[in-house]
Amino acid sequence: MTSTSKRTRAVHGGTRRSQYNEVSEAIFMTQGFVYDTAEAAEARFLKAGDDEFIYARYGNPTVAMFEERIAALEGAEDAFATASGMAAVNGALTSMLKAGDHVVSSRALFGSCLYILEEVLTRFGVEVTFVDGTDLGQWEAAIRPDTKAVFFESMSNPTLEIIDIRAVSALAHAVGATVIVDNVFATPVWSDAIAQGADVVVYSATKHIDGQGRALGGVILGTQEFIRKTVEPYLKHTGAALSPFNAWLMLKGLETMELRVRAQTTSAKLIAEALSTQSALSNVIYPGLAGHKQHALAMAQMNGQGGTVLAFDAGSQERAFKLLNALEIIIISNNLGDAKSIATHPATTTHQRLPDEQKAALGITPGLIRLSVGLEGTEDLIGDLTSAIGTL
Ligand SMILES: *Cc1c(COP(=O)(O)O)cnc(C)c1O
Repeated sequence: MTSTSKRTRAVHGGTRRSQYNEVSEAIFMTQGFVYDTAEAAEARFLKAGDDEFIYARYGNPTVAMFEERIAALEGAEDAFATASGMAAVNGALTSMLKAGDHVVSSRALFGSCLYILEEVLTRFGVEVTFVDGTDLGQWEAAIRPDTKAVFFESMSNPTLEIIDIRAVSALAHAVGATVIVDNVFATPVWSDAIAQGADVVVYSATKHIDGQGRALGGVILGTQEFIRKTVEPYLKHTGAALSPFNAWLMLKGLETMELRVRAQTTSAKLIAEALSTQSALSNVIYPGLAGHKQHALAMAQMNGQGGTVLAFDAGSQERAFKLLNALEIIIISNNLGDAKSIATHPATTTHQRLPDEQKAALGITPGLIRLSVGLEGTEDLIGDLTSAIGTL
């Protein structure tokens, strides 16, 4: 199916039908599976076939459909689904690293990703060097002959910096390091991270894949060798399994993801353009705007699209709060990629934990608002923002 378009793969990839030949994928809400004989149980524990399951912590037919569909969509050999995006980030890193290993990571990370790299891995003796991910010179200086992995968000949260996947992968591969990319903001729709050099891609399926704020989920994509020999043994024994029901939500989410993300992206660009003309705001950040400092790289790396999220500075925390509180359609929350437009004040919520100097270094100013654009009418969203800005 990889020769077909992403849209076709997102609708049909991974489908398994039961004896009833159902149209919509079945939810196998079962923890285990019955063996006809003791010998059959022994044989399956020795080696389970492609369509044979042992225990839902190891695998489940509905979860397998989701894994195969997203792998087909992404052009990855294999995938392992997890209970959340963070379980995917943790699983990808922890399954392959051991004490004494060296990792280079971009500093501009989602708060929980930073916690894993800064607190968890280092506690177990992994050395982590942080770099400004947009500065190739810093990657080049930090990557050593013994570097085991590099990690970055291809589009960073919340300031939407773009990391050059091809260039960083080339530097990492020159020393044999594994490139692990958190691709949430770029979305599976606009990104071709594996084709561009990433060895492993992780997603929080909670975001654009579900896209309707219903469930947590995550997935690790990579070569069959990496997924089956490194990731699977770690995850099946440590237990961050995706529930079959949530896997079903994600499967159905994948079917409409392209249409949703395309509409959200079109809207996000129009909103970013409209906000750019507002003198009450400074620094409207959107990779799809010609004025974004990495516009050319974003366009080259993301199929000419800027994504579904933008950010802007209202000038101060007081003004940002006033603006947020005046919104009537856009909700205040901290998810993204959702059908509902969501505004977030990173400095006091998602990045509250960071010391002020670190916030400043990452561009998380007191007035910064992150906006995840949903599926409402674009004119309604621009109207909502314009009248909220009018109260400042
Ligand atoms: C949300 C998010 C995660 C974590 O995903 P959960 O499903 O909330 O665990 C990881 N990385 C990025 C960039 C995210 O936006």
